[in-house]
Amino acid sequence: MKKPLSVYVHIPFCERRCGYCDFVSCTALNQIDKYLQHICAEIKNFNFQDYQVKTIYLGGGTPSLLTPEQLETLFKCLPPCNGEVTIEANPNSLTDVKCAAYRRLGINRISIGVQSFDLATLRDLGRLHDVKQAIDAIKTAHKYFDNVSIDLIKDIPNHPFVTPPADVLAMIQHISIYALTKDDHCVLETDEPVNLPADFIRYEVSNYARKGYESKHNLVYWTGGEYIGFGAGAHSLLNNQRFCNSNDILTYHREPGIERTPEVIREEQIMLGLRLRSGVARDLLHNKETEIKLLQEYGLIRLTPTNIIATEAGLKVLNQIWLKLV
Ligand code: SF4
Repeated sequence: MKKPLSVYVHIPFCERRCGYCDFVSCTALNQIDKYLQHICAEIKNFNFQDYQVKTIYLGGGTPSLLTPEQLETLFKCLPPCNGEVTIEANPNSLTDVKCAAYRRLGINRISIGVQSFDLATLRDLGRLHDVKQAIDAIKTAHKYFDNVSIDLIKDIPNHPFVTPPADVLAMIQHISIYALTKDDHCVLETDEPVNLPADFIRYEVSNYARKGYESKHNLVYWTGGEYIGFGAGAHSLLNNQRFCNSNDILTYHREPGIERTPEVIREEQIMLGLRLRSGVARDLLHNKETEIKLLQEYGLIRLTPTNIIATEAGLKVLNQIWLKLV
């Protein structure tokens, strides 16, 4: 039987680098074709025979900078996938022609980097689009996709979070909201309120979705599933090893992997589970009854017969909860 696998493809090119960016990205757009040659060679070198690819995610960078022809070149190298196929797009590089091409290539989910619905915030973040362009991009995506996600940023000094307008909310199914400064290993949430309609369920600390529209690809990361990353700086988890590619855009190579010990796996499961609405299996928390009782008394977690789940208050201090439970 084939094993499930998710595929991440990193497209590092951007028109301009944002000041806050900590992704592997560059503005050498004249290198896109060369990069695609490199990444296609890398993909073809991977043996997909034992795997059934469940999700594909094209992230960046700005994948929507690729022309339909460039994207077609890439898709010719990618394995078949009958599940969720996502592309990230920036509002100023998304067009009808591109959306139509995405559909032809089998892309069925689009994630738009809106970042804010406030013009001053967009300007201060150094974004190339304004609010109208963001809304126009969402309208364009909505014509072609019934699974549209947007990315927003909160906790920006002197810029309060602006809730998406109702007409925008009607066109999207998923919202990711990240704090401006975040560290993937130490989840930090601040008090800045996010008020979304109740049908956007906070299924992960930074992610909200209408029922059935949770990101299947990201859930693989959060539940310890296997994934392979292609491209500069891309990360993978395969055969119990974590490994990543180096960051150099045209000469990147795979760095040696790190085998996960049972203790590391357990710690990861607790951290990732705390981020999720489904919570952490209590089986992982042997000998932690005292800590669990205390956290419950403080209102930071709630218990189900099988799991512990961070409360709204707990989601703000996940790292401290994690330290108590590992
Ligand atoms: S668009 Fe995204 S990836 Fe590109 S520079 Fe800005 S934050 Fe970084």
